Amino acid sequence: MKDTKFKFSRKEQKKLEECDLRGCQTCGRILNLKYNFRFMKKRGTWRSPCSYCDYVIATNDWNKKKGLSNTPQSYEEWFPKYLNKRRTREFFDKIGLTAKERRAYNNVMFHYNITPEETHELLKGDKVCAISGRPLNIMSRGTDEELHVDHCHQTGKIRGLLYGRFNIGLGCFEDNPDLLRAAADYIERIRGETTS
Ligand SMILES: [Zn+2]
Repeated sequence: MKDTKFKFSRKEQKKLEECDLRGCQTCGRILNLKYNFRFMKKRGTWRSPCSYCDYVIATNDWNKKKGLSNTPQSYEEWFPKYLNKRRTREFFDKIGLTAKERRAYNNVMFHYNITPEETHELLKGDKVCAISGRPLNIMSRGTDEELHVDHCHQTGKIRGLLYGRFNIGLGCFEDNPDLLRAAADYIERIRGETTS
């Protein structure tokens, strides 16, 4: 199916690209070329939806595949609380975040559609894993102490902070308490057999 309602013509895009900008064909916003659009190496062109719209499209596809009801229609619907960038920046300045911490906060804020204040409430102070009680660090991306924000896949609601691998583990067990209990029983059973 060919999309006939392009928001920006090729000529307009070329002019924008000269200033490192590009118009999103899906939401119609003009955004930074390098930060907000993905380059497709195979085709040698930039993707026509911005990365936010791409995210919405991917989420919708995923939800459709999984039969979930949670379907964002647009960038605005998915990120309504994030839209006031100036207010966010002022809040970050007030609580004195470093650039790296800002990135971590932004990731969480974007992903879970919560306000900067809610993010601060979630990430401030000493954090421990809700399952193991191990200490977590928001700057620990890619390490063993990686902090994950655990969320319910049906409702999108945040459940708590978890040690990264345990969060992945919950997903592997389909978030199913019965399966998780059965797994614990299984390990105890095997242990009992091998030690006795
Ligand atoms: Zn867009």
